Formats: sequence, C-alpha cells, structure tokens
Amino acid sequence: MPELPEVESIKNSLKPNITGKIIKDIDILSSKNFVGNKKDVIGNKITSVYRYGKVLVFKLEKLDKLYNYLNIHFKLSGQMLYAKNINNAIFENPIPFTGGNKMPANTTRVIIKFTDNSAIFFNDLRKFGWIKISKQPLIPKGIDVLDKRFTPILIKLLTHKTRRPVKVLLMDQDLITGIGNIYANDSLYLAGIHPQRKSNSLNESEIKKLHKAIIEEIKKGVKDKGSSGADEAFILPDGSRGNHQRSFLVYQRDGKLCKKCKTIIKKVPTLPLVILNFPLVILNFPLVILNKVKDLATKRSVKYY
Ligand SMILES: [Zn+2]
Repeated sequence: MPELPEVESIKNSLKPNITGKIIKDIDILSSKNFVGNKKDVIGNKITSVYRYGKVLVFKLEKLDKLYNYLNIHFKLSGQMLYAKNINNAIFENPIPFTGGNKMPANTTRVIIKFTDNSAIFFNDLRKFGWIKISKQPLIPKGIDVLDKRFTPILIKLLTHKTRRPVKVLLMDQDLITGIGNIYANDSLYLAGIHPQRKSNSLNESEIKKLHKAIIEEIKKGVKDKGSSGADEAFILPDGSRGNHQRSFLVYQRDGKLCKKCKTIIKKVPTLPLVILNFPLVILNFPLVILNKVKDLATKRSVKYY
C-alpha cells in the first residue's frame, strides 16, 4: 500500500504534467472506484495538486470560480499512470499487475482525459482504491507526518494514555496520517523500540528518538521516490520504480541479517489493521467504548511481532 513517501512521489511527478489542464471527460470503467457525478468536473481546470496523508487531491476550478476537488486514495494496489498521448500510452517498463506496458490495461478502472489529448490512467487490481468528487478536499483526521504539528509532544499526547501496541498506534490514520507498514517497521527499528511495546510505556527519550526516526525514514522515502517492494505494486506515473526498497532496514528483510547487530531478522504475525478497525466501520459507539473494544481485540489477537 502506498504510504506518505509513495503518494508524495506520485504528486511530485504528476503536478508539473497536469497543472493547468482541463478535464475533457472521465471514463469510469468500474463504478466501485468512482464516487460522484463526473459532469460536475468535466470542463474544470486543475489548478493545483496536494497530498494530505495518503490522499492525493486535485484542486479544480470551474468557470464560475466554484471549486471542486478530485480526491484519490490508492489503498492496497492503486496506481496512477500519466500519458502525453492517450492513443499512444506505452511505457518503457512493464506495469505491475497489468501484464504489459500499454494503457489502458485490464486493471484500469478510471481514465481522466484532458483536452490536450493527455490522460491519467487509474489502475487498481483489488478495487479498494477510490476517486471521489467533493466540494472540500477530503483531508484525513490525523496529523500528517510532514506537518509542523507532528512533534514529540504530539506523540506523547497520543501514546501516554493507551496500551495499544505502538506500531498499531503509528498506523492509525485518525491519529497520525501517512505511516503504513514499511515506515512504521523501519522507524521503530531505527529508534530501537519493539513494535509491540505498549504505547504508554514509552519514555521521553524514546518518544524523541521515535519522532526523529519517523521524520528521517519518511524523508528518505520521499528522496528515494518511494518504495517498490517485493510485490512491486508501487510505480510512479511515468512507469518507473521507486528506490527506497534498497534501503529497507527490517521491512521485507525477514531471514536477513540485522544491520545493527547481525542477528537474523524474524517476522512475527500482526493483526491486520482491517480487523482492528472493524468495530469502527460498522458501529457508532462512543469513542471511549470503541477504544476499549480495539484494545481488547489487540490484546486477544496479536501474539508476537
Ligand atoms: Zn539487531
């Protein structure tokens, strides 16, 4: 799943190519992946491209100066490819999950067409990703890791009252947004903190180390243009790969030697976030009860990391 550095890299690559372009039409090949009426954005001009956590946002301007937004979430297997000429969308490298290097592919769900004949292809093998039209950008609840408000004090506030495993807490997009499996694992390793430590057991010095490690790893990820790991799902809009997989510390290094002490790294299963978030999705309990349910789920099901 693309995390902050991957979405930031997609943004950096797309922005110069699509800013100022006018949407001519949108082909919705899978209605599951598109929310809203495309007529609301046809004829709109893209005036800017932003990223909030793992959400990519196109700001659009209509003739009457009312704003619309196209919000994109890549979820597990979303990809965005940009082609200068929609009729000749051929890429240098094979595109993961598509079985070739030509767009559209069998995994293409939405095509955003521009008036200059260029286009964006939104591919999503597993169909969990989405593009949504809205009047306001869909900004996640949590604080973005690259936001000024992401400080050691914030981490302290979020951790000091909960026994949830620190790794689970770091990946909770309602608290902090942008961190997933890759950067949670590697930041915790860099800070010397076990992923299953109870959040409220971290001391001041560990919190400072963790904050520094997260910023460091996320910034490295951005500099490396994201991670195209073992599943190779992530690609940039020009079809090229990210480079950060070469610098993984523990993520996807199961069975390899620890870079600090040369011990063999052992992967231990963790409860999928989907199950942890299950009560949140279907129930409308007050937050206090919800957190108790989540804590319980965590305690019962997470055995080892
Ligand atoms: Zn070690």
